[in-house]
Amino acid sequence: MARTDPKKDVVIIGLGWTGSILGMEMAKEGLEVLALERGDDRDTVPDFQYPGVIDELKYAIRYGFMQKPRKSTLTIRHGVNDTALPYRHLGSFLPGDGVGGAGIHWNGQTWRTQPAELRLKSYVEENFGADIIPEDMQIQDWGVTYEELEPHYDRFEKLLGISGKAGNLNGEIQDGGNPFEGPRSSEYPNPPLANTYDSELFADAARKKGLHPFPRPAANASRAYTNEYGMQLGACNYCGFCERFGCLNYSKASPQTCVLGALKRMPNFRYKTNSEVLKIEKAADGKTAKGVTYFDEKSGEEVYQPADLVLVCAYSLHNVHLLLLSDIGQPYDPSTGEGVVGRNYCYQMTGGTSLYFKDKKFNPFIGTGSGGMSIDDYSISQIDFAKEGFIGGSYITAGHTGGRPIGQLSTPPGTPKWGQGWKEAAGEWYNHKMSIGSHGSNMSYRDCYLDLDPTYTDRHGRPLMRMTFNWKANDIKMTQFMKSKIEDVATSMNPDKMASGYKKDGSQYDTTVYQSTHNVGGAVMGTDPNTSVINRYLQSWDCHNVFVMGASAYPQNTQYNPTGPLGALAYWAVDALRNDYLKNPRPLM
Ligand SMILES: Cc1cc2nc3c(=O)[nH]c(=O)nc-3n(C[C@H](O)[C@H](O)[C@H](O)COP(=O)(O)OP(=O)(O)OC[C@H]3O[C@@H](n4cnc5c(N)ncnc54)[C@H](O)[C@@H]3O)c2cc1C
Repeated sequence: MARTDPKKDVVIIGLGWTGSILGMEMAKEGLEVLALERGDDRDTVPDFQYPGVIDELKYAIRYGFMQKPRKSTLTIRHGVNDTALPYRHLGSFLPGDGVGGAGIHWNGQTWRTQPAELRLKSYVEENFGADIIPEDMQIQDWGVTYEELEPHYDRFEKLLGISGKAGNLNGEIQDGGNPFEGPRSSEYPNPPLANTYDSELFADAARKKGLHPFPRPAANASRAYTNEYGMQLGACNYCGFCERFGCLNYSKASPQTCVLGALKRMPNFRYKTNSEVLKIEKAADGKTAKGVTYFDEKSGEEVYQPADLVLVCAYSLHNVHLLLLSDIGQPYDPSTGEGVVGRNYCYQMTGGTSLYFKDKKFNPFIGTGSGGMSIDDYSISQIDFAKEGFIGGSYITAGHTGGRPIGQLSTPPGTPKWGQGWKEAAGEWYNHKMSIGSHGSNMSYRDCYLDLDPTYTDRHGRPLMRMTFNWKANDIKMTQFMKSKIEDVATSMNPDKMASGYKKDGSQYDTTVYQSTHNVGGAVMGTDPNTSVINRYLQSWDCHNVFVMGASAYPQNTQYNPTGPLGALAYWAVDALRNDYLKNPRPLM
């Protein structure tokens, strides 16, 4: 028999980026807020303290801060006729676990979508005709425009103290910024980070080709900064331990450095750790939720937590799993195309070229998670899809994030994988390698989706979620296009050796190799309940007091990293809650 706890106004599932922001904003409304986080409590001190945190084996290889598959995982298969198998060892993507979520160990590359991406289907139809959309592709408009989101992007960037250079200020193109971005209402809150040598070399070569390099927007503070909640960031020391690590220097924006210190001081906010939500409980009317049931790891009991408002902030994949387990929204069926929950799961199409120079020293150990120079000349708004034969785009970047001995030591092709030959090559090339990467979109398809696995269950006896996903010809064509553009720039830099890694015809999705933790879709936003799970305010069409945050809302993946838009959408949803829903709870139109 489950224990029942006293009712709260708001229950938040997951205390990562979106959970922290929603917690703060709902607490500011004077509501009694409880956040339930399945993992451990974490803070800069003691968890990210120097020197303990710069342990590559513990955190980058053994995934110290990430989800533990023995406690929570999913099954994966390539196609609808395959049998899915459990993802027993993290590889391709690394979901977070514990207070701060993946916001602890992210890189901090913080982008906005282009205006066209938020209305991709309309943009394609208007400019190239509906005929160019492949039959099995299910791209959609988001239901929110860039103009509507702009103030919320601005607020999120100021919350995180993003370092960058505007390229388009109120419609006026700015020297040194990204000329292809949507108009912004103000400059980035902090100037760009200092450049590393590799990014300078890339930017020079790109300029000579007539391209437009600019500093990548970074959530690593270039100087001391205080945000709207009074949280303080220190200037980054370029230690090279961002991705997969917590920041020892209070320099990388994270829920800890930007929100949680202030949130914990709110008297009407509480959070419980080691409390995994098992299900959102529906009320008898079937149109609202009445609370959640969670597993209290410490007492070993199930607890029923009643609440008026349920905010699902558990990371995209877990958001979808919870909706499927809670019978909120009709599950998607690819054979009929009906149903919505699990529809349009997408990933990120990445690739890159390594360049080795005998006479250049890069000092790769000086790095930041998100610095470097990028170009957006081959982004979605710049490509003629009809001419090139694909829909999508990429941004392209050079800038090293660190020089760790295990994961970031690469040798040229042909080097033995171990022994004396490997040692010699490692010594010869460690300081002489740089890379140029492509970070690209991934479209949504009829048979790429999430549902409940018919065979495998988790430790609570619940069905695991099943991912059905593989690469499609459209996106492979896009990444091959980027390969040709990158190799053109790279060749002009005259490296001694060069090696490229991009998906090509016949490439299958490989779960063992890290590609990105940019899993999106499955609880898509939109204006039509037949093709979306949540409306344009991130409110469930089925249960109006359930709001679902995060990248599960994306109808297809953008060419950028996902956290900028999901931060902006969180503030957009907060506005709808504050100014409308809380005053009169009902389905918003
Ligand atoms: C190595 C790495 C590098 C990355 N780099 C970048 C980058 O450079 N730029 C970028 O834009 N994005 C990056 N990301 C992605 C970024 O971290 C996520 O987009 C972001 O953290 C998502 O925010 P969220 O609030 O949706 O989820 P999270 O921040 O992950 O928070 C979700 C929380 O919910 C908890 N939770 C899950 N299920 C339950 C449950 N049932 N009950 C209770 N709690 C639950 C989890 O434990 C977690 O703490 C990176 C991710 C990783 C792993």
